[in-house]
Amino acid sequence: MSKYTPEAFDAQAHDALNDAQLRHNFRGAMDYLREKRYDAFPDAAEEKAVRDRAEAIRQRCLSKLPDLLEQLETNCTRNGIQVHWAETPTEANTIILNIARQHEVKTIVKGKSMVSEEVGFNHFMAEHDIRCFESDMGEFIVQLDGDTPSHIIMPAIHKNVQQVCDTFAANIEGFEPTLDVDQLIQTGRNAMRKLYQEAEMGLSGVNFAVAETGTLCLVENEGNGRMCTTIPKVHVAITGIEKVVEFLSDVPPLYSALTRSATGQHITTYFNMISSPRKAGERDGPEEVHLVLLDHNRTQAYQDEELRKTLQCIRCGACMNHCPVYTKIGGHAYGTVYPGPIGKIISPHLLGIGATKELITASSLCGACAEVCPVRIPIPDMLLRLRHESKQPPNPGAKPLQGQQSAAKTLESAAVRGFRLLATHPTLFHGSAYMATKVRNLIPNHLGAWTQCRVHPTPAKASLHELMKQRQSAQIAAAKGEK
Ligand code: SF4
Repeated sequence: MSKYTPEAFDAQAHDALNDAQLRHNFRGAMDYLREKRYDAFPDAAEEKAVRDRAEAIRQRCLSKLPDLLEQLETNCTRNGIQVHWAETPTEANTIILNIARQHEVKTIVKGKSMVSEEVGFNHFMAEHDIRCFESDMGEFIVQLDGDTPSHIIMPAIHKNVQQVCDTFAANIEGFEPTLDVDQLIQTGRNAMRKLYQEAEMGLSGVNFAVAETGTLCLVENEGNGRMCTTIPKVHVAITGIEKVVEFLSDVPPLYSALTRSATGQHITTYFNMISSPRKAGERDGPEEVHLVLLDHNRTQAYQDEELRKTLQCIRCGACMNHCPVYTKIGGHAYGTVYPGPIGKIISPHLLGIGATKELITASSLCGACAEVCPVRIPIPDMLLRLRHESKQPPNPGAKPLQGQQSAAKTLESAAVRGFRLLATHPTLFHGSAYMATKVRNLIPNHLGAWTQCRVHPTPAKASLHELMKQRQSAQIAAAKGEK
């Protein structure tokens, strides 16, 4: 399990900011990814068209989500894929554990799946004596470290080549230290290769689940996803309920938006479409395919028309690569499976606002995330909404969000109420402004965390109104003098 928690965000962010190596690693990696994305969208008009289309598809599919999920289940079942519904992470893990037990599974080899991170899959299986091995290179590295991913598409992006070499040296028997990237990758590959044959079960995520055909699409660059889903005799795919799309023709535009935004690629090395278990006469493929559809409070976001936009996400990571907060502190500091801007708006649903209230304020609201999001999620608007919900009770008749009002502070509420009173009563406002200019030397220099990296505000000797009055009086006097 992760040693980082969202509740400890402040301390973790401070630690990250003081880690010069970490900042250097992120700086280089983020600059690289941003450039790749810019190169992939050389034409602004075409970029706009790609994003328009991707946004429209995601919005249409979400508007029909309940029906599409039923259609997906029907068509997957018709194809021989067994569909399971999980409301909570524990339910998802238990479903997969039961499948594993039916097949006497001792070893599971995993492709990249952020949802499996979300449900704490490896930890749960280890508690039941089932070994899980990561086969994505980045995930493999963080698993050797006993760590968690720091980015949703590049899990080990917080490490440089030397650090990866050190990890291999500490964990892989017979490894000859090298800084040659190809040799490092080959070392990882060799270590994984036999796991595919040993594993009785393969686990993967899903990028797009097509309701029309009952097809599971997987986007990847390493080929490990294909190995995980074809070599072991049982394949389990796990995904959030929002990943369903209506038509097969919805996939290419979303795929293009995803890969160009994520890694600047027009197409990935592998694109897998899984539509059934192995059929008679086929030479490879699993004997059983299962699909686990996880809710984990996604329906809370879904029920609110504004917050529903959170579920448009196609997990490209572009918002993270462009976020001035994420690029300085990296992913671990957030203490959540999904870090960065997308993490700040999805985690309050998954974990509750109470646990994540620090995250929703950790944004300058600069809007860089929304400018690059291929499906145009208005992340700053979502953050403002969640900040509001973290302090205010729900509207009459509305269902409270999990952890609603958990960030409400009596003093702060009183201050806001007081300011509202002043701002709506001119006489009171002018009186208090006048007093503030007179007692300016009594205002404390240290106003908590706010003044740690800012100069505290000192009211001017005279308010703007007073200055204007003085100027007006001087002008009138001058005019009289001229006469
Ligand atoms: S919120 Fe947008 S930019 Fe961020 S990961 Fe999701 S799709 Fe990509």
